[in-house]
This record gives sequence, structure tokens and C-alpha cells, in this order.
Amino acid sequence: MRKLGGAETVQSRQSLFPIPQQRRFRSSLLAWYNRHARDLPWRASRDPYRVWLSEIMLQQTRVAAVLEHYKEFLRRFPTVQRLATAREASVLAAWSGLGYYRRARMMHAAAKVVMREHGGEFPVTAEGLLTLPGIGRYTAAAIASIAFGEPVAVVDGNVERVLQRLSGKRLAGEELWTAAGDLLDAKRSGDFNQAMMELGATVCTPRAPACLTCPVIELCATRGELAATAKSVPQRKREIHYALNHRNGDGRNGEVFLVQRARDASLMASMWELPELVSGNGTAKPLFTLRHSITVTDYTVRVWHTDALPHKDGKWTPVERIEKVALTGLARKILRKAELL
Ligand code: SF4
Repeated sequence: MRKLGGAETVQSRQSLFPIPQQRRFRSSLLAWYNRHARDLPWRASRDPYRVWLSEIMLQQTRVAAVLEHYKEFLRRFPTVQRLATAREASVLAAWSGLGYYRRARMMHAAAKVVMREHGGEFPVTAEGLLTLPGIGRYTAAAIASIAFGEPVAVVDGNVERVLQRLSGKRLAGEELWTAAGDLLDAKRSGDFNQAMMELGATVCTPRAPACLTCPVIELCATRGELAATAKSVPQRKREIHYALNHRNGDGRNGEVFLVQRARDASLMASMWELPELVSGNGTAKPLFTLRHSITVTDYTVRVWHTDALPHKDGKWTPVERIEKVALTGLARKILRKAELL
């Protein structure tokens, strides 16, 4: 059984942080969080379904992008039951634009397990939540502490950075979970975990920590000296081309030709996109060009009108229906730029 970061681990060994320091840290951090917590829609509820949704959406995605999608996803699937009974294509369509579609598939699978094996109720402990598809140690601890008040600590990238700077040590792996568990406020574990992440996201930021406004500066071993040591990864550059074919057909606003990615594609399987072209038309000008970044690659995306259909498989889709199609993020971006979405 996997051990989760918890306050009970403090007693039997020497902590990195002496007990009086732990107490001061908790009260300073929570007092700051009470005053400065960002007003984010998922913080208005302790419903485990909503907490789970926000935690999964926030993985590898910026808060601003999640804000756009969170409410719409809940409008379409307001309960775990509605998510469990939805078609996969509808779930992927609601996820479109957030990327990392495996997360949406796993949520869909987990919703079915919650309905089938737990009578529609989420397990109330981190260990129980860990048995659901797509829920790892971090997410299990986040849901258990925020929705059910279980005293388990979380470690994500923000918490890791705060703990390393606070202690002045390059903590790794289990050391991080232990340190987070030592500091945890067991009576307000959900708020405490969110406060740690908030501190890392808004004050103890990767490149330029705002130490002068930090609520725990008095307890910090480094006060920013460990900042910005991570090497930045150089971005690769690539040019890619897509065909945007729009014709008068069914629907008031015409139709757009879309193709579906293979079901066994390693990325964005079964999602819909515009047909990719091997190269542009050297003698003509593209309809437009836009930039798109995915992890370490910056793409220059040129979008062309083509006379011949550049792909044998695919379908003409009425513009009014596009919103309901599970589009890749880039296809959505192109269609928005073309004012077809
Ligand atoms: Fe981070 Fe600076 Fe606060 Fe230390 S004092 S925790 S380095 S923001």
C-alpha cells in the first residue's frame, strides 16, 4: 500500500522543520491564504466531482485556459452520473482546447467505475481514490483533503519548489512528501494544500520569487537564493501546413472539410482536425499564418485553401455543428482565426 504524505509521520523521526517552525509556518501561510486566495470557480465547492474535474484540468494547463473550459464542461456534464453515461466523443469535444486528451478519457473511465462500483459516490480517502483510473498520488491527496478534509499533503511542482527554497535543500521523491506532511495543517488540510500551491503559483514563482511579499519569509532558509537554477529548455522551431476548405453545402454557413486522427494515434487519438499538407504552395500566399506552441516546439502554422481535397478520408461538417466536434486544440485555433467557430 502506498504511503501518502500525512501529519502523523512527524512523531517518529527528526523533521526538517522543528515543531515551533511548523506551527508558525501553518498560521502565517493560512492567514495569508485567507486574505489573498484567488477567487477561482472551483474553490466555491467541496463537491468531489468538481474538485476532481478542476484538479485534472489544471494538470499541465494554465489557470486561464481551465477557467474557459471548467464551467462549460460542468454545464454539459453536471454530475459524475452524467459524465459516466456520456458518449466518449462528447467528452472529448468538451475537452477540446485543453490538450492531453488522455486525461479526458481517464476521467470518463473513472466516472463509470464510480457509478458501477461505488454507487455513484467517490471514495472518501486518498487510498480509495487511488484505485480510480487516472488518479495518481497527487490528485488522490488533493481530492481527499479538499473535498473530505483528510489530513494528507500534496506535492506538485509548485509545492516542490516552495519546499526546496524553504529548507535550502534539493529535496526529491519521498523526502518531498515527508516534508509536506510535516508542515501540513491537519485541521485545515484542504486549505493548507491549496495555500501551498497558491504560494508557489503567485509568490514563490520559478524565476523571480517575490520574497518581499512572502508570508513565510522569516522561516525561509534561502529567501530566493535557489531561484532560477533550472536550465531553460531551448524551443525547437517547425513549419506545418493545413488545408482549410470551406464550401456552400448543408447548413446556413456552409461546411468545412475535417479529418479524424487514427484511433491508435499516440497523441489526440480519434480527434478531428484539418487535413495536414506536406508543404505549402510556393507560388501562392496562405490564407493566414499563426503560431502554436506545444511543449518544446514552436510551430509556424500556414493555412491554405486547396482546390483538390487533400485527404481521401474525412467529412464535410456543417459550420453550425463544429462546436460539438472533438477538435484538436490547433484545429480549434485555426477555425477561430477563420471566424468559423
Ligand atoms: Fe519562496 Fe522567497 Fe518565500 Fe522563500 S521567501 S518561500 S524563496 S517566496
